Amino acid sequence: MKASASEGTHYFFSRASKNLGLGTRLEKVMITPRREVKVECCIELDNKELAVFTGYRVQHDNSRGPMKGGLRYHPDVDPDEVTSLASLMTYKTAVVNLPYGGAKGGIACDPSKLSHAELQRLTRVFVDEIHDIIGPHQDVPAPDMGTNAQTMAWIVDQYSKYHGWTPSVVTGKPIELGGSAGREAATGRGVAMATESVLVDHGQHVADQRFVIQGFGNVGSWAAKFIAERGGKIVALSDLSGAIRNKDGFDIEKLLAHVQVHGIIGNFPDAESINPNELLLEECDVLIPAALGHVLTEENARDVRARYVIEGANGPTTPEADEIMIKKGITIVPDIFANAGGVIVSYFEWVQNIQQFRWTEERVNAELQTVMHQAYNELKGIAKSNGCDLRTAAFMLAISRIARATALRGMENENFCLLGFGK
Ligand code: GLU
Repeated sequence: MKASASEGTHYFFSRASKNLGLGTRLEKVMITPRREVKVECCIELDNKELAVFTGYRVQHDNSRGPMKGGLRYHPDVDPDEVTSLASLMTYKTAVVNLPYGGAKGGIACDPSKLSHAELQRLTRVFVDEIHDIIGPHQDVPAPDMGTNAQTMAWIVDQYSKYHGWTPSVVTGKPIELGGSAGREAATGRGVAMATESVLVDHGQHVADQRFVIQGFGNVGSWAAKFIAERGGKIVALSDLSGAIRNKDGFDIEKLLAHVQVHGIIGNFPDAESINPNELLLEECDVLIPAALGHVLTEENARDVRARYVIEGANGPTTPEADEIMIKKGITIVPDIFANAGGVIVSYFEWVQNIQQFRWTEERVNAELQTVMHQAYNELKGIAKSNGCDLRTAAFMLAISRIARATALRGMENENFCLLGFGK
């Protein structure tokens, strides 16, 4: 039987916690979410029929600060997936040392089949159901798959009806409502920064590499832009409409303009269509899965021909695929570091809201670079001194920070004293 999403995350957690000598007692405390909320959101559709959509918010851990994490609108949203993603947020905020815990939410729906007005009604009903468990110092949602700045604007408006004007209840807002410069591009920018760090560390440069990117949404398209700006050659990519290849490398600015007009990469000139299932197996130096989870599995991992995998998506690699690719000598830059750019700039947005002060985009991007650099150097150090891969190093760093915060707040356990690094 295949492991569920949360079993996969537990596997990575346990692999690292064993290295730290955490013990099963503490392991259980740390992997168990604090709160899992399920709500039924009933709305009237435009055709006057009633429809009910199930929404979730899983609050995993708040030992290091308010919980933080996106809201996903997607047909595959289910309690196990949301729980796994919530725990990944806890580890992600700890790896890059933000003063946050982790949470995730979502509504099981297909946003492409709902009108703007229906999405607005659905979002407002969801806020009606969860407004008393979110808040700037409790749990701060943000965009994720299927949601965007507009969704966040509706949340601010609905939440503020109950609690007074509170833009800091969510991040990833439109600039006009207190959003941050640079937030929309931040996850993709961070992916490009993580890519550059790992390549430079191996004595290479983005400009000499061939890239394959799965997904041309918010993460993949911005990552493609920043990689192309650094001279990287993107030889294949995909979106919902299919996958395309160009051995000489795509003109990304032209492709972005095409997507602006047509909404999809399909029919882009200078491109050969390929089977989307084969995309991940294309020959390249760097593979960036930046779409759904569980796309690298034991079925295809052996055939991956990249030397680096940079996880732009959350949870793209199953434990089996991870082991296979590590054995093949592929360097995997894990999601909880590689795609942290989004939540890092979310943190900057929250700080700006609380201080009622605006940063320039230059400042946002420079601070993002500082945080990504610092985190990469820490991961590299842990990987080196423990002889482990970067994912295990990232989980070790996260677990040690979370465990120490938990201990300092009053939970006693002699094992905590073992967790000496990543202060
Ligand atoms: N949804 C994004 C993620 O998975 C951003 C979360 C946030 O900014 O809170 O990291």
